[in-house]
Amino acid sequence: MASKFRLEIVTPDRVFFDEEVTMVVVRTDDGDVGLMSDHIQMASRIPIGRVKIKKDGEILGASVASGFIKVGLDKTTIITDAAEWPDEIDPERAEAAKERAEKRLQQKTEDVNTRRAEIALNKALNRIYVRETFRK
Ligand code: ATP
Repeated sequence: MASKFRLEIVTPDRVFFDEEVTMVVVRTDDGDVGLMSDHIQMASRIPIGRVKIKKDGEILGASVASGFIKVGLDKTTIITDAAEWPDEIDPERAEAAKERAEKRLQQKTEDVNTRRAEIALNKALNRIYVRETFRK
């Protein structure tokens, strides 16, 4: 049996996940990484995206906002602004956020607002994708 390691995902609101897992796949600013128990120690920023977790032969997918990952000897920690399981994602809220952001981007106002709208759009599209892809 593949050996396990501890994965902890923490947001400002809660400990989203804290369990023994077999594998984690996550996009980092340095590229996609697949983590197993013997992975080299590392730390990197993570962009808005998803985390795929293999646990007891099952694949779980969750959306994450931007944050940070630290891979230690026997524990991997992800600290992120927000994380949701597919069932926790409110599709209407995500759709409304998407439309709001798209409208702001069409208006082409000052740069700061454009960047904020791009981030909001990215978060909304990511939530819609995760809900549709990983919902059981
Ligand atoms: P909105 O514009 O709809 O508030 P947002 O992208 O600004 O979305 P965040 O700042 O990323 O929201 O998250 C704030 C909190 O709301 C977090 O706890 C996050 O998990 C939750 N959240 C955001 N969007 C959704 C959604 N569509 N469904 C469920 N929870 C959500």
